Amino acid sequence: MMQWQICDREGVMRLCLAAVCFSFGIIGSPVVSSFSVEVSAEESDLRIATFEVDATPELGSPLAYDPMVKVSDPLRCKGVVLLPTGDQPIVLATVDWLGVANESNAMFCGKLAEAVGTQPNRVVVHALHQHDAPRCDHSAAALLEPYGIVDQCYDLPFIEATFESAATAAKEAIVSAVAVSTIQVGQAPVQRVASNRRMLDPTGQVHITRYTACRDPLVRALPLGVIDPALKLMTFEDANGPVACLTFYATHPQSYYRVGAATPDFPGLARDTRQKATGVFHMHFNGAGGNIGAGKYNDGSQENRPRLARRVEEAMQTAWENRRPDNSTELNWQQQPVVLPISEAISVDVLAKTIADETQPASVRCHAAEKLAFAQRDEESPVPISRLAIGNNTLMFMPGELFVEYQLAAQAMVPEKFVMMAAYGDYGTAYIGTRVSYSQGGYEVSPRATNVSPKSELVLLQTMRKLLEAQVDGVTASDYTDATGPGPINVQQLPGEARPDETGR
Ligand SMILES: [Zn+2]
Repeated sequence: MMQWQICDREGVMRLCLAAVCFSFGIIGSPVVSSFSVEVSAEESDLRIATFEVDATPELGSPLAYDPMVKVSDPLRCKGVVLLPTGDQPIVLATVDWLGVANESNAMFCGKLAEAVGTQPNRVVVHALHQHDAPRCDHSAAALLEPYGIVDQCYDLPFIEATFESAATAAKEAIVSAVAVSTIQVGQAPVQRVASNRRMLDPTGQVHITRYTACRDPLVRALPLGVIDPALKLMTFEDANGPVACLTFYATHPQSYYRVGAATPDFPGLARDTRQKATGVFHMHFNGAGGNIGAGKYNDGSQENRPRLARRVEEAMQTAWENRRPDNSTELNWQQQPVVLPISEAISVDVLAKTIADETQPASVRCHAAEKLAFAQRDEESPVPISRLAIGNNTLMFMPGELFVEYQLAAQAMVPEKFVMMAAYGDYGTAYIGTRVSYSQGGYEVSPRATNVSPKSELVLLQTMRKLLEAQVDGVTASDYTDATGPGPINVQQLPGEARPDETGR
């Protein structure tokens, strides 16, 4: 077992090392040691097609926090269409946006499903959560519509045009689908990128949030905290080699932002560099990175963006070079809709008043509309959670800004399998902490930042256990939450809670 220092304090070390064991035990384990005999194209039970379209808005269009003034690097929408023999297609799509929330997510999945001739519950759309990138919520837009401020928050014509172009590209891609002869998986630790944002005092309360760009060296020097250092990779290969590469890594993707310059930021830049280097289609998913950012390793300087990109790219390359074939291309898809308990801090009346309040800035009214849109969802519009099993590999598709503990728990539930998790699917939930984290305070679980209650962990764990066919009982996400405080750190020396807009979320 390799040991990375992913937690700095004794109390958390045992759990974290266990997580490393689960995360890295796979290479050379029995799971991938029984290599497959490659099948011919005629015998393959799976075909794959890839698609990719531009997802960059026009100048002047609203990005998540500011109007767009320039394109630093183009935004992409990418996807694969999986075509299992004798079954309906499955679509996995990503977009370089902040989030695709509520009705927007359902609408995008519906468009892609219609285009490739499948059901919407066999489609997932995930954002990479870049911040100098658009946000997208048709449910919130409908609530803002009577007040004439929709276009200050969302560029709906552009968003819908992107849905259409992606759907058209997916449909056209099927024509040139290729037979998959082998699935391969690999992984590598990413060095000096992910760090936990929630720094505790000795009583176990969040004392400071180490946001994604952190200018204070004292705060950067605080412990790494609980992360999942593993970048995981899966390739679909035909007789001539890889045709599509999917990677997964849990962290907020920000280096610096709020400059109005559209960018896929460091994970997207790493992805694009790898695609150029290999000539193979590459899509990247943000894992459960809600409480994770590069803050420990990122002072927010512009020079740091390519540095962070390079570190992710190196792990992508190592995982690629380390990849090993699995023994099956047999595929199984399941989607489980869940109703997550709404945050008790949400007042529908207060939100409705804020939306209608013309003295408030559009950004505040937009935020209220997004919260109200989620609060109004019920059994008729549940949040989907999906699972794709291919041989011994399991891909979990989760909603919102999910804490990394869920990703560690998922792998621990099925130690014999190789689990890859994407979060930032339906973005309506906003942050989803662990049950324990809500009692610790901090930005992510504040009434402003989360739309769900601590009881959500129970719902999510039950669903994960079922979809993963858990082999180990009793694993919870809260087990992985740091609860012991920073040990030798003298909190008196530290500044107070930083303001999100100063330091970057
Ligand atoms: Zn975030």
